[in-house]
Amino acid sequence: MTAVPAVALARERASLPDPQPCVLLKLGEVVLKGRNRQQFERMLQNNIRLAVAGLGVGVRLWQRDGVLVLNPPAGAGPAESARAADLIAGRMRSVMGVARVCRAVRVAKDARAAAEAAGELASGRPGPFAVKARRRDKRFPMSSAELAALIGSRIQELHGNPVNLREPAFTIHAEVDQSEIFVYVDGHAGQGGLPVGMSGRGMVLLSGGIDSPVAAYRMMRRGLYCGFVHFSGMPLTGPESVYKAYALARRLDEFQRGSRLFVVAFGRAQQQLASAGSGRLQVVAQRRLMLRTAQVLARRLRAEALVTGDSLGQVSSQTLANLAALDEAVQLPILRPLVGLDKSEIMAEARRIGTFEVSQLPDQDCCSLLLPRQVETRARVADLRRIEARLDIGELAEHLAAGAQEYRVAPETVTARPAPARA
Ligand code: ATP
Ligand code: MG
Repeated sequence: MTAVPAVALARERASLPDPQPCVLLKLGEVVLKGRNRQQFERMLQNNIRLAVAGLGVGVRLWQRDGVLVLNPPAGAGPAESARAADLIAGRMRSVMGVARVCRAVRVAKDARAAAEAAGELASGRPGPFAVKARRRDKRFPMSSAELAALIGSRIQELHGNPVNLREPAFTIHAEVDQSEIFVYVDGHAGQGGLPVGMSGRGMVLLSGGIDSPVAAYRMMRRGLYCGFVHFSGMPLTGPESVYKAYALARRLDEFQRGSRLFVVAFGRAQQQLASAGSGRLQVVAQRRLMLRTAQVLARRLRAEALVTGDSLGQVSSQTLANLAALDEAVQLPILRPLVGLDKSEIMAEARRIGTFEVSQLPDQDCCSLLLPRQVETRARVADLRRIEARLDIGELAEHLAAGAQEYRVAPETVTARPAPARA
């Protein structure tokens, strides 16, 4: 361990610029290479700008080797910069494609400057600590271990905390870059996954239930930019389910910006299916018509997939035979990210992402209208086609889509809620 006299440190520190508050982002899926990687970074930067747009603080973005640095606007005072960096860091926790969010300070490329900054960050933190140092610039004259030792001894000297590398109460990180050192405590898990938009667009069938918002979240996390379509039982039901769908879309807009929600009044079409003699096939026939209508809207949004919250065997309409009958109704692929999850797992995720409480609000779901006494668990496509032929189903789907109400989803007040933490 290199001992550095405190007086010398203080003197040297006086000649160094103050630590600059910033946010360091570690990117997910770093295995991506070449053009994919460039696209990843471009999309992510774009999404970051959109995410901070409503915060009322500017941001300067620097791409470094494997990390992104977000700086508050130049010229702001220290307190203002620190506040801006806090706000930006909070927002980054719901941006897809970010693996870790570290509220950091940027100091000169000087080990002593890093030690001083670490000393300040450790101030007021009780308990044992650890230091982790790494060098993205291998030409730095100290090894990572030497740098960590220097920082560790400075913290002990200033605050007297014991070192415990195995079970620290907090960890100081120092990362040496090409022209500076970043220092931060702990850091938070980001959402991970891919930047929204990187995998194209999809149209989510969003009911007021628990499952479909979670399905949307999962696909956004895999880079799908999502439009939403909700089918209400109107005019046979009230508008409550529409309020819920809007509130859910708004929650989900935290993970992407500029969401659009289409609302289709589906009650009359449900009656038509019933009158056409759908009987035990009513639920599956309705679902097929929803998918066909969603497909028309998807094309309007240039979406290349449909997304549902189906989970195999969860209810009688979601047997393997019925899911196959649903697939047969449309050309676009149907993505079902929850297909292998238990209800309890879906509920836990809904709680974590903040959609559960909205999904729990009472409403009259359109599927509860005209519900047959028994739902067919082995729907046959030939039988469904016979019913649909009585209605000119393609025409009906076009008609329903043409009558859809479109809403632009306004973002929630972004600072009101802490971003959902990833496990
Ligand atoms: P939950 O099962 O928690 O009640 P859910 O959204 O899964 O909610 P289901 O009845 O299981 O509802 O429907 C399966 C899937 O079909 C949903 O996940 C959703 O994608 C789609 N869906 C059902 N009803 C509607 C609707 N009214 N509007 C849009 N999509 C719907
Ligand atoms: Mg369900």
